[in-house]
Amino acid sequence: MTTLHPVSVLVPVAVGRPYTYAADRPLAPGTVVVVPLGPRHVLGCVWPGEVDDVPEGKLREVARIYDLPPLPESLLRFVEWLANYTFSPLGMVLRMVLRSPNALEPERTLVGVRLAGPPPDRVTPARRRVIEIAADGLAWAKAGLAATAGVSTGVVDGLVQAGTLELVEMTPRSPSAGLDPDHKPAGLSEIQSSTAETLVASVQAGSFSTTLLDGVTGSGKTEVYFEALAQVLREGRQALVLLPEISLTGEFLDRFARRFGARPAEWHSEVGAKGRERVWRDAASGEARVVVGARSALFLPFRDLALIVVDEEHEGAYKQEEGVTYNARDMAVVRGRLADAPVVLASATPSVETRVNADRGRYAHVRLPARFGGAAPPAVSVVDLRTNPPERLHWLAPPLVEAMTEAFGEKKQSLLFLNRRGYAPLTLCRTCGHRMACPNCSTWLVDHRFRRILGCHHCGHEERRPELCPSCGAEDSLVACGPGVERLQEEVVHRFPEARTLVLSSDMPGGAQRLRLELDAIARGEADIVIGTQLVAKGHNFPGLSLVGVVDSDLGLANGDPRAAERTFQLLTQVTGRAGRAGQASRGLLQTYAPEHPVIAALVSGNREAFYAQETEIRRRGRLPPFGRLAAIIVSAGDRPTAQAHAQAMARMAPVEPAVALLGPAEAPFAVLRGRHRFRLLAQSESASLLHSWLRAWLQAAPRARGSVNVAVDIDPMSF
Ligand code: ADP
Ligand code: ZN
Repeated sequence: MTTLHPVSVLVPVAVGRPYTYAADRPLAPGTVVVVPLGPRHVLGCVWPGEVDDVPEGKLREVARIYDLPPLPESLLRFVEWLANYTFSPLGMVLRMVLRSPNALEPERTLVGVRLAGPPPDRVTPARRRVIEIAADGLAWAKAGLAATAGVSTGVVDGLVQAGTLELVEMTPRSPSAGLDPDHKPAGLSEIQSSTAETLVASVQAGSFSTTLLDGVTGSGKTEVYFEALAQVLREGRQALVLLPEISLTGEFLDRFARRFGARPAEWHSEVGAKGRERVWRDAASGEARVVVGARSALFLPFRDLALIVVDEEHEGAYKQEEGVTYNARDMAVVRGRLADAPVVLASATPSVETRVNADRGRYAHVRLPARFGGAAPPAVSVVDLRTNPPERLHWLAPPLVEAMTEAFGEKKQSLLFLNRRGYAPLTLCRTCGHRMACPNCSTWLVDHRFRRILGCHHCGHEERRPELCPSCGAEDSLVACGPGVERLQEEVVHRFPEARTLVLSSDMPGGAQRLRLELDAIARGEADIVIGTQLVAKGHNFPGLSLVGVVDSDLGLANGDPRAAERTFQLLTQVTGRAGRAGQASRGLLQTYAPEHPVIAALVSGNREAFYAQETEIRRRGRLPPFGRLAAIIVSAGDRPTAQAHAQAMARMAPVEPAVALLGPAEAPFAVLRGRHRFRLLAQSESASLLHSWLRAWLQAAPRARGSVNVAVDIDPMSF
């Protein structure tokens, strides 16, 4: 009889700890297995640490052991760290790693063919075409060769029988295996090279560090961190580049391919299941040298991670708000620390947190203060809507129209930025004042005239625009209030009938595919006036753009959140920064009712430092991040009184601790979301570790959530 070895196995479901199973041999932590769980079989991962003391006869046996290298220890520690930090079940975090079970299966090798001998006696034209193509000496998949030659696979089979072709095994290689660090290096400017050297040195050091790569728009941050990637390639190791999903466009990948001679491995929502399995497998084997991906790429099982770059580090899109809530930017720093790898955070508008961490010396700070090639930054000025109001039911004030007319006359491109999708953000009744609201959320319904619906941007609820007011029954009384991009387009088409206009908005039909085509068209100068939501602000390169008009600069500032100023500053810096990138003189015009607002003033003066100094001071005084830490507890339920009562009961059970402040319960920023009523408790402390242990004690003491009640913990919430 063989002796059984007890092993600790974590399964990727909502469990807080590993279970003990028996295996026929000792298994290293990180080994991927299949184990029985209740009536099912599930994937699992052998977990480090003690096994439970279960009598041997009671243990269930490991059903299968994958013949793969174990997941790296630093990844297991990352899973543990994240689960603990975010108060998520350990198994749910492992689930983000073991996402594609098929990736664990050995790669199927294809049978290919290759030229091996002289031509056969009888050479038909079909055979000749095949031989000509195979003359490159490379292995071809049979079907691929036949299709390329335009013949049936029978012709290829015939040549195999004749000995002209031989059968060979083919394993598809990771695209990133062909990356060449010296393919086509950019000629860097002096400041670019010295900055690149700093990053290269951090890769060479081979240990954890965090560097803020802080460069104005158009300064060449990408070119600079490409040099750090080149160093990783020279060392034969692996790098991860995180981008906000929306920036993962063909443009970035093409640029990458021009520099390194091949494309990186890609990991984002547009990559199909098969592609993801590949990337996962290649990350684990080390064959994927550079992975470019959205936030979930942080959970890939890199075998030899030597660098993480987080581009556009300030982006809110790095925060995952559902399930395990985490900020991929911060978690990249943790992953880097656990893997002993340097981390580079790149931005033209760093988050206040990152900026303060750099100022305090926690992060190294390198700067590119000017655009590459001496291009001037756009001249930003204000259009004061108090003295220059647009005409009734128009949104463009005379000075902006004038600037657009001038640009169009000179055949230059303009961009109008309005962060509102659809036709109008609000529909109301002229007779009774009724506002069309979402039945499930505390928001107004947005008029999407193009699709002929009123829709909610939070839960997806859609309804037809009614003929009569649902409240008073008046006919022809519902009117659209305020502009969305579709309505703005009406005005532009009316004012500039000869111009080619184009609307870019994330809800336009066609998805990412279409978006890519449109961005390329804009870059080629095939549009005169582009109208866009925040989609256009994100890292795209529009070489012909010389005027950016911000239709409503005050939009993001109306919100009471202290982060509103920072967000608006970032967004408007990015969007005006699209202009003048090819060296032409360029302008940004900000339509506003509050020209004296510090954010607007900072954008006009270009004095970033004053803005950061002021925001830092506000954060310091309020003990807001990164001076203090915050955790939000969201209590939701099917009805308002139940949610409120549970939140209040929780507040009463909160441990007394002078160094932790508890605010609320108050209605959450979205008081009703997808039909659930939400209350929020906000805990704040200057010590992250104290806040953490206090929260843990509280959650243990707090009354259990029952019935429709749900309690969710959001560590480092985005709004405060
Ligand atoms: P950022 O990301 O800082 O906004 P990019 O890396 O996108 O800047 O660079 C802005 C533009 O300048 C791009 O078109 C890029 O190709 C060009 N550029 C930057 N540095 C160089 C360089 N050293 N040589 C040639 N072109 C460069
Ligand atoms: Zn809704």
